[in-house]
Amino acid sequence: MAKSESKKPASAAQEKHGVATALKDQVGGLMETTVALRRELHRWPEIGNTLPKTREQVLSALEGLPLDLTLHQTTSGIAAMLTGDKPGPTVMLRGDMDALPMPEDTGLDFASKTDGCMHACGHDTHTSMLVSAAKLLSERRGELPGRVLFMFQPGEEGHHGAKFMLEEGLLDVAKGKNGSDSPITAAYALHITSSLPNGVVGTRGGPLMASSDVVSIKITGKGGHASEPFRTLDPIPVACEIVQALQMMITRRIETFDPAVVTITKLVAGTTTNVIPESALIEGTIRAVSEKTRNKVHDSIRRVAERIAEAYEMQATVEIKVGYPVTVNDAPSAEFALGVAESVLGEGKAIQMPSPVMGAEDFSYVLNKIPGAMVFLGGTPNGVNPATAAPNHSNRVIFEESAMAHGVALYSALALRTLGVTLN
Ligand SMILES: [Zn+2]
Ligand SMILES: [Zn+2]
Repeated sequence: MAKSESKKPASAAQEKHGVATALKDQVGGLMETTVALRRELHRWPEIGNTLPKTREQVLSALEGLPLDLTLHQTTSGIAAMLTGDKPGPTVMLRGDMDALPMPEDTGLDFASKTDGCMHACGHDTHTSMLVSAAKLLSERRGELPGRVLFMFQPGEEGHHGAKFMLEEGLLDVAKGKNGSDSPITAAYALHITSSLPNGVVGTRGGPLMASSDVVSIKITGKGGHASEPFRTLDPIPVACEIVQALQMMITRRIETFDPAVVTITKLVAGTTTNVIPESALIEGTIRAVSEKTRNKVHDSIRRVAERIAEAYEMQATVEIKVGYPVTVNDAPSAEFALGVAESVLGEGKAIQMPSPVMGAEDFSYVLNKIPGAMVFLGGTPNGVNPATAAPNHSNRVIFEESAMAHGVALYSALALRTLGVTLN
């Protein structure tokens, strides 16, 4: 990890504030509007790929900036391009904008005003931080050798928003305004988490987050009287056996150091105590951190379920709904991001994560096309233990708003450093 991006030795003041003093002063000047926009987004959360109010709020916050805006048609996505005064490559920064279908019980005075909808994953902070990074970098346009593409993305929470934006040509920006070649050479995303202390960030090279697929297994037998099971084909014990065997399959057929999770979360069968039903339904989630293991788990679930059912003269129909791919950070980009983070946040504040987390992210679609990295931003409320803080997706989660200063600085610094600008 780079200790310092500055050429000059750090002064006492720089030491205290980290090296990027001018950058931090700029961020400081933007905090009031960053917090205000975040709270406004938090009050009016929207779900999925169509976020009309959110898009309006973002566009109004970006008004007056020297950006070329592309309003996506298939979703509420916004691609905003900042062209520096000097030629160079393009770096992309992503902020997701969507909320979750759940109630909010935080008691915050800017809590959601939309029933059953909450920004519980902090995407309101991402959007707001990215807007402020766009403002900060616009002020520095004169020193930018290249371009910055701000990707405001809807539909991260399971709606494949990033995929839709890619399909609509998000990355077709190879030529700069003057015709010079300016391809996207790197892409970065931040994700706030209430489980990491304020002022700390973490990431790793390679797999960072898991793939996420849904499995549904229907076992079909033959119904009848509960007192005479031998005259029926009872799907319930077979369903139970399949649930157990899937756990056995994970421990005995999947490599220990390339792990997977299969969690059965739903088992539905029967109506009363004296009827054997005709069928039983099992559903759950599949997580893996490599495409190789992901495919192996899919095949193994089919084999185990179908053959156990067959052993009892029944039939198992397995459906796997494919979700987000594994989020794989480009290793040099992750190292670079940690170095930049340390120069912005101070020594020891950029943590190399020992292992991936099993949640999923659709930034994975972007990272499958462009080298880059996703970075977790610490957002535990000050004075709260990160280990016991209400986690992301909790109806009680609270994010430390002052953490957004670190996020704005980091987004901006990642763009500046990628384009070769020394931080000051
Ligand atoms: Zn989430
Ligand atoms: Zn999220």
